Amino acid sequence: MAKMKVLFATSEVAPLIKTGGLADVSGALPAALRELGIDVRVLLPGYPVVMQQCGSFDVVATFANLVGFPVSRLLSGKMENDVPLFVLDCPALYQREGGPYQDASGNDYSDNALRFGLLSKVAALLAGRATPLAWHPNIVNCNDWQTGLTPAYLKFTPGGARSVITIHNLAFQGNFPSTYVHALGLPDYSYQLQGLEFHGHLSFLKAGLQYADHITTVSPNYAQEIQGEELGFGMQGLLQFRKDELTGILNGLDIDEWNPATDPHLAKRYQVRDMTGKAVNKAELQKEMGLKQEADVPLLGVVSRLTHQKGLDLLLEIAPRLMELPAQLVILGSGDVTMQNAAKELAYRYPGQIAVKIGYSEPLSHQIEAGADMFIMPSRFEPCGLNQMYSQRYGTPPVVHATGGLSDSVRDCTPQSLADGSASGFVFSGMTANNLYKTIQRAVRLYGVPKEWQMLRKNCMSKDFSWELSAKAYIEVYRKVLGR
Ligand code: ADP
Repeated sequence: MAKMKVLFATSEVAPLIKTGGLADVSGALPAALRELGIDVRVLLPGYPVVMQQCGSFDVVATFANLVGFPVSRLLSGKMENDVPLFVLDCPALYQREGGPYQDASGNDYSDNALRFGLLSKVAALLAGRATPLAWHPNIVNCNDWQTGLTPAYLKFTPGGARSVITIHNLAFQGNFPSTYVHALGLPDYSYQLQGLEFHGHLSFLKAGLQYADHITTVSPNYAQEIQGEELGFGMQGLLQFRKDELTGILNGLDIDEWNPATDPHLAKRYQVRDMTGKAVNKAELQKEMGLKQEADVPLLGVVSRLTHQKGLDLLLEIAPRLMELPAQLVILGSGDVTMQNAAKELAYRYPGQIAVKIGYSEPLSHQIEAGADMFIMPSRFEPCGLNQMYSQRYGTPPVVHATGGLSDSVRDCTPQSLADGSASGFVFSGMTANNLYKTIQRAVRLYGVPKEWQMLRKNCMSKDFSWELSAKAYIEVYRKVLGR
């Protein structure tokens, strides 16, 4: 049988450009699919950092008359991991000072509908009959709202590839004024309840959910949760309607990038057979972050966007009580200014016990995963979540709220689950500060019993988080969609 060809359309890919988990998935899943014999190629906008790295790629197509979009060029080359990459170069839309979606002050670009309308349109074009390329994909796998219009464009120009949309976070929907329906070259009749319309707006995400041949999301539990009112963000009716074409697949990890045995960011590498290096990383992290050099005080770690979703307001609220346990706390993140200030204020009040770094740092994120004793992730909702899996791989048991992918990837520690080897962290239900406190207290108690704590760490580090299983599940979905 001919090789299956998949165009993977995405707005960020690690390590080229990353704001969150979508980039990690886009960096690793295509590589894992290629290992399994699928011909996957990635499509990404040419943001400045991407053009710096890929500017010498070959120009393989030019788009001039695309429904009013500015002229753009398609460049083709390969990423470091050998995965073929198409870069959509359109300086008028992508050459900006800020990030992929927002300017340097954190405001969404006012023309995001055009910026990602173009990305969606080009993905559909490459997956359609009129593609300028010799390569004809069978499937286009879109990701989140930024490529949500692709399935719609494909629907309105039949004869192209089948489409799958993957939801990484349903809270971001790409809802824009209805005037964009025309501007983006979408037919008038598509702007209706059973189409692109969502509460008086054109919704990119809804377009994807409505018109894709299949919908996937990043954990089985989240696939269920988004069919309910609480986490459906208004899309629950449509998702219930399409539940037979909705599949939850837990993300894997880039196990080469996140490997304590080879991680170049660590002071000392370690592995499950010999974890002595972990203590060295803890001491180094304490030193670097200005924390007291106390080997036996549990060090709690956080690496996160500082937003309401991540539930860190609860952690900040109980931080003074946690200091009494005693414990230390290190936080790396950025986001809401009030949360940033509250975190900085705590670091000021508890010098040597709480350290906060506002910003984004890949090396420090690895050092926290390795140097902390436990990782705190009390998200209100979490489609999949990666950090709780990284932390397990680094022998740093996570403390998580029972939601989405956190429930699917962390097994609560009880005497029974510890004994049968399945325990891998601490899970609490009921999103209150006190429940979080009691669960961290439970973790700290076990930390005080070295033999059991060692067992828990070993369980964590022995788990298989590779992409292979997940990639196989994606291939199953593609096969189903193609009727193979
Ligand atoms: P989300 O995509 O909702 O932000 P995930 O846990 O799925 O959450 O993925 C977040 C990714 O971004 C992880 O790889 C995490 O390590 C990384 N990350 C988040 N904040 C920071 C930061 N301040 N510095 C470095 N890495 C960060």
